[in-house]
Amino acid sequence: MPQVLTARDVAALLDSGQPIPEGALLTPTARDLVGERRHLPAPVARSVPVPALPAVVATPAPGPVGPMIGATVPDHEFKWRPGSDPRTPEDIQRFFTSPAIEDLKRRICDMGRRLWLKDFTDGNGGNITVRVGDNLVLCTPTLICKGFMTPDDMALIDLDGRQLAGSRKRTSEALTHLGIMKRQPAAKACVHAHPPHATAFAIANASVPTCLIPEAEVFLGKIGVAQYETPGTPENAEEVGRIGVDHQAILMQNHGVIVWGKDVEDAYWKIENLDAYCRTVAIAQGLGTGLHSFGPDKLKDLINLRLKLGMPDARAALKECELCDNSDLRPTVVVPAPAAAAAPSDAPPDADLEALVQKITDEILRRLSAK
Ligand SMILES: [Zn+2]
Repeated sequence: MPQVLTARDVAALLDSGQPIPEGALLTPTARDLVGERRHLPAPVARSVPVPALPAVVATPAPGPVGPMIGATVPDHEFKWRPGSDPRTPEDIQRFFTSPAIEDLKRRICDMGRRLWLKDFTDGNGGNITVRVGDNLVLCTPTLICKGFMTPDDMALIDLDGRQLAGSRKRTSEALTHLGIMKRQPAAKACVHAHPPHATAFAIANASVPTCLIPEAEVFLGKIGVAQYETPGTPENAEEVGRIGVDHQAILMQNHGVIVWGKDVEDAYWKIENLDAYCRTVAIAQGLGTGLHSFGPDKLKDLINLRLKLGMPDARAALKECELCDNSDLRPTVVVPAPAAAAAPSDAPPDADLEALVQKITDEILRRLSAK
């Protein structure tokens, strides 16, 4: 196997004055970089190109980012001063009914209505949480249709799921959301729902292919898959929390999806993005012509754009050749070769088949001539 070098590998070699190894394969971006450097008068000392990012920190990365430079995502993130959580029952109650929290409760109701109107939840399905302190989370109650909630229905809990305020009991699935929030501080809001197209992938155990639609790469990142565990159990919280560290959108096997964002609308959008993506991929697969991938070098640009928009992406540390690994769906993701269903005409005939055809032909002729 020839060695595959990405732009980062090539930059490291050139920066340290080493030659490109004989016979190495260069990715398209790496080739461009070699071309660029040939026009430079002398090796240029560069700072480290893209460090391997910790999942939590969203650091802008260098590189082309396309026409959306400077775009900002609407910001409704709830910010608090660390160490300032209310502690006494009176302070907790005052906090729970403060104007900022009442505003958030209304936002949660609004997103719940949108979930229900879009058919992303059925019956009492789905739930929403928003982190509002070091150890405080607003959450939807159990057994309620998400389309018809009012601010008075909301509950306040701590990161272990203990209820601190609110007249209705919190949803049991809040534990799953907390599993993510405990491990990923950037997860300020989680939404869980059962959107049919994304859930179809989750029950078919089909991983969602990548490198097909740029917006999905930017706003969803790599879609994670959590193994099935009974909803609402600590095991489910553990599994989803583990996957949630590096994935903002997660398919929960045989159950539904959970996403996280910096605020409740940001998280809700990801549910819409995820279901629309899965619906489109499913329709495209039905066309029977295979799915056309835009390839890993273009995906690098989208990952950089995602980082610029403040969303973490563990794929920033991957090599280009690892980025569009659609191995589960490979037969349909790669551009299909010309149909090869018919046996080539110069293939040797099957002797047994020839003999059988001859035998039937002889028998037909015998019967005809006997009439
Ligand atoms: Zn559920």
